[in-house]
Amino acid sequence: MAKCQDCAQEKLTADSCTFNNILMGIQGDFYERDTTYYDKNERCHDCGILNQKGNYHHLGCGIERCPKCGLQLLSCDCSEGRKIIPLIVHKPVKPVDFEAWENNFEEPVY
Ligand SMILES: [Zn+2]
Ligand SMILES: [Zn+2]
Ligand SMILES: [Zn+2]
Repeated sequence: MAKCQDCAQEKLTADSCTFNNILMGIQGDFYERDTTYYDKNERCHDCGILNQKGNYHHLGCGIERCPKCGLQLLSCDCSEGRKIIPLIVHKPVKPVDFEAWENNFEEPVY
């Protein structure tokens, strides 16, 4: 049957797409994909993933919400006419230590 052109998994059996971020827009900003919005079936009627929080739709699915504006990703304007590119972004093992970062930050002296 149909395979996802990004993750190459068979859509009927894959639980989730493997790309957790998408790059979109002229600035090339990337966003963590929404994993909270699904239809009412056991599997997505459009892209076939297992409907469960934390699972990513295959790109192009009509159910996926835009992580930037919250509307349907397929029809919102956030891509600004450019192709949306799926990305895998590896999360840091430890959360960023903002306090240490702040202590390394010197304010300009006038
Ligand atoms: Zn996929
Ligand atoms: Zn879907
Ligand atoms: Zn949008």
